[in-house]
Amino acid sequence: MGTAQSFDIAIIGAGPGGYSTALRAAQLGKSVALIERDATLGGTCLNRGCIPSKALITATHTIDTVHRAAELGVNASVNGIDFGRLHDYRLHIVDTMTKGLAGLLAHRGVTVFHGEVTAISTPGAAGNADNAGTLRITGANGSPVEQFVRAGVAQPLESTVTISARNIVIATGSRPRPLPGIDFRGALIDSTQALELDEFPASAVIIGSGAIALEFASMWCTAGCTVTLLIRKDRVLSSWDRRAAVTLTRELKRHGVTILTHTNVTQVDTGANLGATVHYTRQVSDSEPAEQRTVWGEIALAAIGRDPITDDAWLTQSGIQFDNAGMVVTDPYGRTNLPGVWAIGDITEGPALAHRAFEQGIVAAETICGLTTRPVDDATVPQVVFSSPEAASVGLTLEQAQARDDLDSVSETVYPMLGNARMLMSGSAGSLSIVSGAYTSNPDVSVVLGVHIISPMASDLIAEAEQIVGNRVPLHDAARLIHPHPTFSETLGEALLKADGRPLNT
Ligand code: FAD
Repeated sequence: MGTAQSFDIAIIGAGPGGYSTALRAAQLGKSVALIERDATLGGTCLNRGCIPSKALITATHTIDTVHRAAELGVNASVNGIDFGRLHDYRLHIVDTMTKGLAGLLAHRGVTVFHGEVTAISTPGAAGNADNAGTLRITGANGSPVEQFVRAGVAQPLESTVTISARNIVIATGSRPRPLPGIDFRGALIDSTQALELDEFPASAVIIGSGAIALEFASMWCTAGCTVTLLIRKDRVLSSWDRRAAVTLTRELKRHGVTILTHTNVTQVDTGANLGATVHYTRQVSDSEPAEQRTVWGEIALAAIGRDPITDDAWLTQSGIQFDNAGMVVTDPYGRTNLPGVWAIGDITEGPALAHRAFEQGIVAAETICGLTTRPVDDATVPQVVFSSPEAASVGLTLEQAQARDDLDSVSETVYPMLGNARMLMSGSAGSLSIVSGAYTSNPDVSVVLGVHIISPMASDLIAEAEQIVGNRVPLHDAARLIHPHPTFSETLGEALLKADGRPLNT
């Protein structure tokens, strides 16, 4: 055992949840340790999630734009993709972001350890002095644990180091979920491997119907890949607003993605350089027989969800409470059942998204520091698919609103996006719907309950919708907001006017 340093707060995992906790707690004057086993900081998001995927999507958006060039009177054409440069571009973006984060943490005085937490003794455990818990940090394969004295400057410690802290925040994140009974191997890959392919595949079978599956489908299809999407249910994004999901399905198909619903993958045959043959059954309705089929792709990407990283022995044996899915059970502020132990991000029940983890980290840090703060409301966390066009959603769907008994006079307003000049110029199609209604406790005031958008820039448009839905702004007031002209944001303004009974352009 090595040096015992003590901290106010120790955080396990430097993804968006962990690093936001660290930054906020340090800002509030606490001594903070942040422990990360990856070589770089930033977790899934910066290294193998949000950032590298959007770097690649930025490239394929460019292809999309060039494909429309002739229509706009510009002579340009796509003459292939230089994958070496694209690879460098992705790495450059990731590198800049992770180094920037390291600099920020150092600037705030956060002590970063590079190593893996392999043992925990929780702050409330018997025999722990001063109510502080301890963490054992181990270097990879017997190598020393490193402590960063400045951004990018590491000092080797011993191969095992113990630190103590009064509060421990667990933010260990998630990993790709394998298909039931079928391991990732050969040409059957997960999203991390998909981001690192030397080239985009010429053909791919993608299994899944959530954001990650749809982003890869859209990106590869735009780059000329033949994409078959196998989904289990009757539509993509099954938990989303039906209209938005149907519009996105139509747009993906229009771009060339083959979408097969009601499928169940039973086997994947792979071999070196042989691609992947995916066996599935398909039964579209109970009255029809299930058919056994196969589809072949150079690669098969399984993107059916992510599992929390909570199965390591140090955590399972800590006495912390888990639900049936292996998620850590917490209160809305991140408190677990163990005093002084907190959990945030993808290991907690709720949308597995970076911006949610980030906000949970701020809430946990402020609560630990004794500030009064507002917990994250999962119902108003915006969700986005960075497909072409983008999909974004916040708040209740029509079906969810209709099923609630604290709401009255629920209605849906659909705005025809093609009335918008920027939409017309984009050559894209989409949909925007607003779900509104009044709470039975205040039946005279209608509020915006949900907004669901398929459109270019939907990822940005949804931020305004989140303000309106999250703050329960009365519909009439929301409809008075002025939007600059000509912008995509006018679609939301016009849809709000229509929902408020004052349609202008429809
Ligand atoms: P993570 O980011 O997973 O970080 C956890 C960290 O803990 C990891 O770095 C891990 O190495 C470390 N760790 C685990 N165990 C230990 C241990 N014992 N000791 C030390 N360190 C440990 N979300 C969005 O909001 N927008 C997007 O566009 C988006 N795109 C995505 C695209 C892809 C392909 C993927 C896979 C995910 C995407 N996500 C997106 C989801 C997002 O990345 C996650 O929700 C987010 O990273 C979760 O943050 P976290 O802090 O909970 O965990």
